[in-house]
Amino acid sequence: MGFMFLKIHNAFDSHCHFLGTGQIAAGLSLKNLKSADDVKDLQILPNHHQHNWLVGFGWDQNLWVNPTFPTSATLDKYFETIPVFFARADGHSSWVNSVGIAELKKLGYDFSKDPVGGKIERDSHGRPTGILTDQAHIQALQKIPYFTESQQTDFLKLSQKLFNQGGYTHVRDLSMTATQWKLLAQMSEKKELTVCVEGFVTIENLNDLPRALEDIKWMQQNPNRHLRIQGIKLFLDGSLGSRTAFVSENYLGTEQKGILCWDLADVKTVLAATWSKQLEFAVHTIGDEAVHQMVQVARSVSAEGILGRLHLEHVQVMRPETIQMMKPLHISCHMQPCHWLSDQSWMNQALAPATIKNTFQWESLRRNKIDLHFGSDSPIEPTSFLLNYNALTESAKKGWPKLGDDWMKFHSHPDKSWNSSFTEFTEEKIHQVYFDGEPVL
Ligand SMILES: [Zn+2]
Repeated sequence: MGFMFLKIHNAFDSHCHFLGTGQIAAGLSLKNLKSADDVKDLQILPNHHQHNWLVGFGWDQNLWVNPTFPTSATLDKYFETIPVFFARADGHSSWVNSVGIAELKKLGYDFSKDPVGGKIERDSHGRPTGILTDQAHIQALQKIPYFTESQQTDFLKLSQKLFNQGGYTHVRDLSMTATQWKLLAQMSEKKELTVCVEGFVTIENLNDLPRALEDIKWMQQNPNRHLRIQGIKLFLDGSLGSRTAFVSENYLGTEQKGILCWDLADVKTVLAATWSKQLEFAVHTIGDEAVHQMVQVARSVSAEGILGRLHLEHVQVMRPETIQMMKPLHISCHMQPCHWLSDQSWMNQALAPATIKNTFQWESLRRNKIDLHFGSDSPIEPTSFLLNYNALTESAKKGWPKLGDDWMKFHSHPDKSWNSSFTEFTEEKIHQVYFDGEPVL
């Protein structure tokens, strides 16, 4: 790019967690821990609390001196009286202290067995070690009393500032809620909103579907020109970092291929129900086998004459035959090149060579004319399309196929008529962002 002044219209982050971005930025960061015991040096502030809980985010044992999962015993040394819930950097595991385990039990969390699609780590006596993974993590998170509306508005405002600073005017939020829609609409009416947000409502299980459809109906009945509701989202597998993304080859040094969080018959039911209501369906699929199974489900629903758009989120590993199967279906893939930068340090230790060969297939998707968009996965990665540009350049140097088209195309909202926005930037930095024709930085 050099020093040329460049311009993107409707600069689009195609996969983020909007409220979570502000929440994490205002919250307690654990990303600089070098060991479990480093929690003793954390500076705790009032806004690090979710009701009576201390919450934090961002630890990654892969970066520690001793790269094994921590236990509640370490937290208990420094936090004896307050429940603690520390989420892992990938948002798929949590680390809880003994007071937290006791508090979760009081809130009705079942520690007696692993939930479907999740794991409660246990010691040799069968006692929980304090690590909860995937559905076990999600269900614990849902038990903790949520932030107040005033805290949520603070997070939304901080988040939109971070997205604008990263160059974005349009975001696709995979964690939309009715409350968030209401708070964003209030900001829009006060002319305080400087991003367009399209959203999906996440469901955790089949019983959650009627609630999500009701929320979507309410959003449709309360329209706002800066907001769009698209459909339903679910998590089909885990993450590569937690070795829970569902892959076709065992993770190195294990007999494990990761997990599927849903029964595929239930996924089919949700997909058919969603498409029947003219809504779109988004699914978190990171491992090649999860992607493959999901495309097969979409194919079987389509064969029954029910048609709609399927959004595949992340698709970090994909086999060539799966990409071929996507062609006749209405599929959009949402990738985050920046994950390539983060995953480089440990990929060779965790993934079989056959799996690594099929990682980060953006060029194959483009060549096969599958609808492709780029995003940040914020707060997992920073809100920056320049970081994605950097990842595309660096990955090409390391042997991943070079993206054979202008990368900016994949960072622009497909609806050019939705708001009049553009971003001026160079390779080094974002210069100005115009939203509704007005500069916002
Ligand atoms: Zn996500």
